[in-house]
Order: sequence, then C-alpha cells, then structure tokens
Amino acid sequence: VASCLFCRLIADPGFTALYRDDDVIAFADINPQAPVHFLVVPRQHVETISALDDDHLLGRMFAAAHLVALEKGVAEGGYRLVLNEGPNAGQTVYHVHLHVLGGRQFHWPPG
Ligand code: AMP
Ligand code: ZN
Repeated sequence: VASCLFCRLIADPGFTALYRDDDVIAFADINPQAPVHFLVVPRQHVETISALDDDHLLGRMFAAAHLVALEKGVAEGGYRLVLNEGPNAGQTVYHVHLHVLGGRQFHWPPG
C-alpha cells in the first residue's frame, strides 16, 4: 500500500534485496542491532503478525530467514528471531517483518 514504508521500499528501483522469491523479501535493517541484522517481509502488505493468517507464508518467512542466515555465516553460531507485535513490543513499522539478528551473543530474558 502507498502509505507503507516497506511496501514503498521494496518497490523502489534502487532497493537491494538479500533474498527474494514469490512470497517474501529479505533486506538489511537500516539500524542494525547486531553484526548481522536483516528483515524478512511478506511481499503482500499485512500489518501485523496476528493478522497474517497464511501458514504457507509464515513458513516461507522462517525458511528465508534460515537461508539468508546461512549465506551470512551466522546459522552455525545461532541467531535471534524477533517478531514485534503492537506498541508494547515496540513495533514501529506496520508491515510484518521478521528480525534476524546474528554475529554476537544474545541474552535471555531480553529485558
Ligand atoms: P519494529 O520496531 O519491529 O517495527 O522494526 C522496524 C525496523 O525497521 C527497525 O529495526 C528499523 O531499523 C527498520 N527500518 C526502518 N526503516 C528502514 C529502511 N528504510 N530500511 C531498512 N530497515 C528499516
Ligand atoms: Zn506494506
């Protein structure tokens, strides 16, 4: 949709994807919180993970996350997957995005 940051970003001719297929696109986060930090988004505009009712698409997002993590060399060491749902989680962009963070140690609980 025209008002959506990620819809506009992935449609931009200058946009660089780390991965793309018919369902999802992965790209680097502009404000990385780890040596490797990228986002996996459905090509189709869906505002929140709770509104994404397509199991196939969910599966494709996680598969793409692992594929790009392998390519980036962080799959073996491990990586953190984050889905922020709504204001308390700190969701700022209302186009579903799976954060993939790797290349450093993460702690639990996250705080
Ligand atoms: P969230 O807080 O879960 O909604 O995360 C939104 C993420 O989008 C943040 O990590 C931002 O750094 C990232 N972001 C915002 N604008 C861009 C952009 N133009 N390109 C890449 N990542 C972006
Ligand atoms: Zn969108």
